[in-house]
Amino acid sequence: MLTGLRGRLEAADRRNLIRVMPAKGAEMSTSATADVLVIGGGVIGLSIAWRAAQRGLRVAVADPEPGGGASHAAAGMITPISEAAYAEKELFRLGRESQRRYPAFAAELAGLTGKPTGYRQAGTLQVAYDADDLAILGEYQALQESFGVTVRRLTARECRQAEPMLSPAVRGGLLAADDASVDPRLLTRALVAAAVLAGVDIIRQPAAEIRTAGGGHGTAHDGTAHDGPAGHGTAHDGPAGHGTAHDGPAGHGTAHDGKAHDGKAHDGTAHDGPASHGTERDRAVSDSRVAGALLGDGTRILAPWVVLAAGWNSATIAGLPPGVAPPVRPVKGQILRLRSGTGGPGTSGPDGMPGLLARSVRGIVHGSAVYLVPRDSGELVIGATQEELGADTRVTAGGVWELLRDARTIVPGITELELAEAVAGLRPGTPDNAPVLGPSPLPGLVLATGHFRAGVLLAPVTADVIAEYLATRRLPDLAAAFTPRRFDRSAGSAGAAAAPGRSGRSQPRAAGRNPASEGAPR
Ligand SMILES: Cc1cc2nc3c(=O)[nH]c(=O)nc-3n(C[C@H](O)[C@H](O)[C@H](O)COP(=O)(O)OP(=O)(O)OC[C@H]3O[C@@H](n4cnc5c(N)ncnc54)[C@H](O)[C@@H]3O)c2cc1C
Repeated sequence: MLTGLRGRLEAADRRNLIRVMPAKGAEMSTSATADVLVIGGGVIGLSIAWRAAQRGLRVAVADPEPGGGASHAAAGMITPISEAAYAEKELFRLGRESQRRYPAFAAELAGLTGKPTGYRQAGTLQVAYDADDLAILGEYQALQESFGVTVRRLTARECRQAEPMLSPAVRGGLLAADDASVDPRLLTRALVAAAVLAGVDIIRQPAAEIRTAGGGHGTAHDGTAHDGPAGHGTAHDGPAGHGTAHDGPAGHGTAHDGKAHDGKAHDGTAHDGPASHGTERDRAVSDSRVAGALLGDGTRILAPWVVLAAGWNSATIAGLPPGVAPPVRPVKGQILRLRSGTGGPGTSGPDGMPGLLARSVRGIVHGSAVYLVPRDSGELVIGATQEELGADTRVTAGGVWELLRDARTIVPGITELELAEAVAGLRPGTPDNAPVLGPSPLPGLVLATGHFRAGVLLAPVTADVIAEYLATRRLPDLAAAFTPRRFDRSAGSAGAAAAPGRSGRSQPRAAGRNPASEGAPR
């Protein structure tokens, strides 16, 4: 008999999916059903899966490497305030709301799983190195205040009182006391454990193709069609005759015959149904519906709702009708992990060395941006480059050199630390740097991607709004500005837009300029 957390995890893992035999004549593969299939188990997909399972939905996550992707590289700053300079007001509001939810989110995860997340609320100190950098800092302050946030301006002396290891050359700073951080690798581990405890099946396979039912755009059919998790959730027999039973939490008890639904009849709000503006794309998807996905090993997952949360890969998965894939692109970020003592000055870690910093420090050095994020483990994270090089994850000498150069200018003591790791991750960037949240034009397909620099910050609020949509088919107002519909205005060009067209370290942006093409490395 299995005991303890591992035993509970394995038991939960086994009970969720219903395995079904393929219909006579159907392709030979294992099939399984779920109310919701989440494609991608990064910080976003795992958070959604966990919250959706807590709402009573049967959830499966497909990911060959849960906790991988950009989540594995991320620094983990929860800093909507010091990020404000790079965000539109709506995005800033979403970030603030997610930040507000973080303490409870992290405490619930740790309480349920016994696993730490590395959450610490120690604030962020933004510092300027020369007179021009100080001017940029002044613009940040003005923008942050225009968003209704109070930050404290510190003199050079006050900066060094707060962080004694700062270079004496630092000219001044801004203190955002509410800012926090988390260790994304610990966070995704805790999320996997919490999701499994809630009954989520984690399937270590990639989604090779999204399957649809009905429609005439030539994609494969799995023969399932549902009202969705919030709907009628009854036994059904799709054309392929799988004979599986679904009982969504709302379970109204109607029978249906496997015809595709248009997803509109049950929609309660203006923005929760698929877009239908009579475009070619809308005609292509109007009579089809998501039916699940084919995984890399040939397993078919039958699910009436699919959440696409595969980071930048969300745009590359096969099987979607034209125009349905979210406009995401990979934005490379190189980042370093140094080993020191524990987080705060005066404390000492496993190696007996004192931690260099008490809080996250973001520096502007001759117009270039760098950050240093301390962890309780004694790790010090230094990031990050922002490069438009496609799906390139090579760590370059130039990237590492620039990061170390600027970090050393701000905190000279880093040169004494051990360089433990240098990696590159790919952020899911969008044309307007904001996430894509909510129903897509293809009924049953929900998008949760494009979180760019802020996926760790935005995980709690994203999980809540998407789980709410899956359970009720109403998308909370908080997400209204982030639905895929906003790209309809520039239909056809959204996917291609946005690449700022340069590589290397990005410069801190003067407040008020177009954030779509510039931003602080993160
Ligand atoms: C260097 C760096 C530093 C960052 N720092 C911060 C920070 O301080 N704060 C912050 O908020 N954000 C930060 N970010 C951004 C953050 O990491 C991303 O916004 C976030 O990870 C996006 O989460 P995601 O789950 O959508 O995508 P990802 O984390 O990329 O996860 C996608 C998942 O999908 C899986 N996948 C891919 N293809 C498939 C497929 N076909 N089928 C199934 N699964 C698939 C992958 O294995 C992966 O696990 C940083 C990013 C980088 C690169």
